[in-house]
Amino acid sequence: MSLNKIEEQVVGAKEGYAGIVKQGQIVRLTDLEGKQVIDFVVWNNDDRREKLSASYSRSRYFAPQGSEYLPRNTIGEGDWLMSTSCRPLMTILKETAERKGVHDLHHRMCNRFMMNVLGGVDVDGCHEIIGKAIAPFGVDYTEVPDPMNVFMNYPYDRDRDGFFINEPITKAGDYIEFRAEMDVLVAFANCPEDITTACNAGNCTSVKIEIFEDTEAEPFPVLDHYTWLHQQLRERGRPVEKTGL
Ligand SMILES: [Zn+2]
Repeated sequence: MSLNKIEEQVVGAKEGYAGIVKQGQIVRLTDLEGKQVIDFVVWNNDDRREKLSASYSRSRYFAPQGSEYLPRNTIGEGDWLMSTSCRPLMTILKETAERKGVHDLHHRMCNRFMMNVLGGVDVDGCHEIIGKAIAPFGVDYTEVPDPMNVFMNYPYDRDRDGFFINEPITKAGDYIEFRAEMDVLVAFANCPEDITTACNAGNCTSVKIEIFEDTEAEPFPVLDHYTWLHQQLRERGRPVEKTGL
């Protein structure tokens, strides 16, 4: 792998970003000061009806055939960000936080409803911040999918039978990297929630985005979800008889 940086931008606290990432390019998001949550969303840039599915990303992975079905609570290094068509939009290549996989794929995102109801202030949440960032790309606020809340520490509490929000575990300089498996539109908000929860440890800070191209990478075909699935099964020695859709 020979990486060449093609973009670098520091996105300020409580601000957002949107941009197109080509197949094979790598996105690195760095938590510059630590304990900052990043609400991250992705679209197939060639057909934006197809977009991130947080629940497919958690629950569709290659478990051994016949094993118990275990939908996971989170994803980490080596896992895919799956689309609403159940094929990979991006792959998580690397995360540097001491504990891997501390991200949330259950909660949606903060928004003006939450800011008003819980905090009593009429300010933008992640949904509005992302909505404004994607508007120049012709994507509407209503089209924002459920995100991967990068670095959000959102464990399940059996006693209370619910999720609760802890401070993130990231330290200054921790980062996560994603590789685009097709041309994608990515957007994120540096979560502005510092009113009622420990989501950002009460101190919202900036995030750096870097985009790299791998000058040695070969382009690869983007397969429809059905063909992709069968290819993956064959690679794992699990051929299936096609029945057609
Ligand atoms: Zn937020």
